[in-house]
Amino acid sequence: MSEVPARFVGLECPRCGEDFDPGFDVTHCQRCDSLLEPRGDLSSISLTRKELERRPFTSMWRYEAFLPFESDSAVSIGEGATPLVACPNLADSLGVGELWIKLEGANPTGTFKDRGQSMAVTAATLAGADTIALASAGNAGHAAAAYGARAGLDVRVYLPARSGFSQKALVNVHGADLTVVQGRLPEAGAAFREALTAHPDWCSVATDDTPFRREGKKTMFLEIAEQLDWASPDAIVYPTGGGVGLLGMAKGADELTRLGWIDRPPRFFAAQSTGCAPVVEAFHTGREEIHPIEQPDTICGGIEVPNPTAGSLILEAIRDSDGGAVASDDDEILDAALLVAETEGIAMAPTAGATVSGTRSLVADGELGTDDVVVLVATGSGLKEADVLRSQLMSKGV
Ligand SMILES: *Cc1c(COP(=O)(O)O)cnc(C)c1O
Ligand SMILES: [Zn+2]
Repeated sequence: MSEVPARFVGLECPRCGEDFDPGFDVTHCQRCDSLLEPRGDLSSISLTRKELERRPFTSMWRYEAFLPFESDSAVSIGEGATPLVACPNLADSLGVGELWIKLEGANPTGTFKDRGQSMAVTAATLAGADTIALASAGNAGHAAAAYGARAGLDVRVYLPARSGFSQKALVNVHGADLTVVQGRLPEAGAAFREALTAHPDWCSVATDDTPFRREGKKTMFLEIAEQLDWASPDAIVYPTGGGVGLLGMAKGADELTRLGWIDRPPRFFAAQSTGCAPVVEAFHTGREEIHPIEQPDTICGGIEVPNPTAGSLILEAIRDSDGGAVASDDDEILDAALLVAETEGIAMAPTAGATVSGTRSLVADGELGTDDVVVLVATGSGLKEADVLRSQLMSKGV
């Protein structure tokens, strides 16, 4: 087992509060089986905001003081350090004060999944793994294939048949072993679980299995705060599937607030598709638990997660931040992604269009308005799913 930095003080259970020693191979609470959360020692951060600003803006590892690994042990391809782009035309069209898009498509494999896989694959190498494996809707599988290749690991990826062509192709291109499973994410997940049981030596880098993906996505918020001169936006709207990115950003906002680097956290809003909106449904009926969606159906593969295991944590994070949850249908989502492409020059993943259509609804409901500075997280690049965007255009007779 490799070196654990002093600032990584333990792994904590978010459900029952039990504490475990820091390390790279314990993942779940031995008492209640919840996924553990790495705990950092904020008092060990001697870095100032000015010192941080002087570091080159080249990867998320510039925030290593906030992360449970040393940057020289990192499996990195230059992930993170993505642009935050002002979008005045979209701000006018949606009716908010300022609108910024966090361009996560600028990551090495074209989505923010790279931040999570950089961390998870680093942990896997530090734990001595030879093989990493996961089931995914597509983008996480692609990212795992790339980071696994970088680290010289064997990679096993389980994708549903519905996964996009680019995602499947690039898993192959990076030399990973691809299993395509009939059906959707839950079916791919079941095939993966079965294989994992038969191969206990595989190290799972799936959402529900590694405490480190969320930690990597924390850096999205650290960047947003720095890019806005150490201020929180009023709201962050995030296309929510498993909620890894939302929970990671909420943790980042909490840490920066406790350090006094920002005054307050932003309001977090979960954007989903009406074809699979378990978080929105639970939020609006006042429940603290998710009820799984029986028959999910949306073109937005990244957020077609019918039973997010972190559901109650997501609900807590959006309620604690005075945020909310909003769903739009696929047609509105795709039209919104096209609007951004046509008026701001940004082609985002269709899934991320949910943040744009969601913001439109939030303005109509009076939740957001012309006083608000709003950040939308464009979790992926439209280049990976140009076919989906173009066929929406053609369905309108263009
Ligand atoms: C995975 C994914 C999401 C959802 O991410 P979570 O953090 O698990 O909620 C959103 N958009 C895209 C493009 C994705 O690939
Ligand atoms: Zn527990």
